[in-house]
Amino acid sequence: YITGFPKETDMVSRTGTIRLKVPAKEGSSSSNSVLVKNLYLSCDPYMRLRMKKVDDPYVPAFTPGSPISGYGVAKVLDSGHPDFNEGDYVWGFTGWEQYSLIDNPQTCLMMNKPETLLIKIKHTTDIPLSYYTGILGMPGMTAYAGFYEISSPKKGEYVFVSAASGAVGQLVGQFAKLMGCYVVGSVGSNQKVDLLKNKFGFDDAFNYKEEHDWVAALKRYFPEGIDIYFENVGGKMLDAVLPNMRPHGRIAASGLISQYNLEKPEGFHNLFLLITKRIQMEGFVAPDYYHLYPKFLEMMKQYITDGKIVYVEDTVEGLENAPAALVGLFTGRNVGKQVVVVARE
Ligand code: NDP
Repeated sequence: YITGFPKETDMVSRTGTIRLKVPAKEGSSSSNSVLVKNLYLSCDPYMRLRMKKVDDPYVPAFTPGSPISGYGVAKVLDSGHPDFNEGDYVWGFTGWEQYSLIDNPQTCLMMNKPETLLIKIKHTTDIPLSYYTGILGMPGMTAYAGFYEISSPKKGEYVFVSAASGAVGQLVGQFAKLMGCYVVGSVGSNQKVDLLKNKFGFDDAFNYKEEHDWVAALKRYFPEGIDIYFENVGGKMLDAVLPNMRPHGRIAASGLISQYNLEKPEGFHNLFLLITKRIQMEGFVAPDYYHLYPKFLEMMKQYITDGKIVYVEDTVEGLENAPAALVGLFTGRNVGKQVVVVARE
């Protein structure tokens, strides 16, 4: 298990052989396993938390020496499971490897064990399969649940999103615009500022690395205050947001990426403002909302085909480049949803 910033060398690549057939269960001809060829792997910030020895059942630690597991898109090569057939495309939990044998996957969206989830994709050529790692997968559900279910948004409200160009943030900003809100995002480069304003339709955006006083910067962008803060970053950013929140504002606590590599989380000066401003702050995890996935999927597919929502991905080719892609999330190297292409078909 590691401390500090993750490094590429914390991960090693190994070769081995795998039989491209699901093993038969003892005493019967088939098992409940599914053998998949991995196509697209998702790099997600919470994976850093799995590199720590933690007891939280929601983010079980990786097993050192075993393949990294995470969300991905794959093609079924062989199946002993009644719900999957050869040739099916799926998204859910798989391994950072070319082929994975997935034992007893769960297809039910109501369960709360996301690390065994495997969902069949109704593949159509107009929607890229890689989207199921992002806009149509877990990050999409995070943006959807955090904005619509947690934030109680209303037309005309002032919305602030941090890590706003990423897998989740770019969608939150676009949802806010569809709702008729005023939305500003913070990001770590001028290229990303441009993306927010000119591709995702944010009303404004700023590069937090060029602003020395974030309280003052937010006051400039929100002279009337913030109604909704979609929190992806935590630490000093949250502390700067609190004095700028309007009374009865809402904070959807999605993630605290600025804290994931710290041994000791940063303290707060302004937390008491939660009380005096009657601010509601609620943490949430996307899998708790997976029962809404069918409704979400239908809505998002329509938005995509109508051109009402766009999505930017940052793809790297080859499993050998996956460690650098994962590590890059913590320096802001990725522009958009970070995807690793293992194979395209
Ligand atoms: P992104 O695609 O946004 O990638 C991470 C981005 O975070 C980087 O590109 C970088 O962008 C920014 N970042 C990295 N370090 C810092 C830092 N110290 N301070 C400020 N920004 C930083 O990731 P996701 O969209 O997938 O995830 C965004 C957040 O949502 C994370 O906190 C994640 O844990 C959380 N999340 C929560 C889920 C839930 O169920 N609650 C599910 C999925 C994600 P920049 O260049 O702008 O700094």
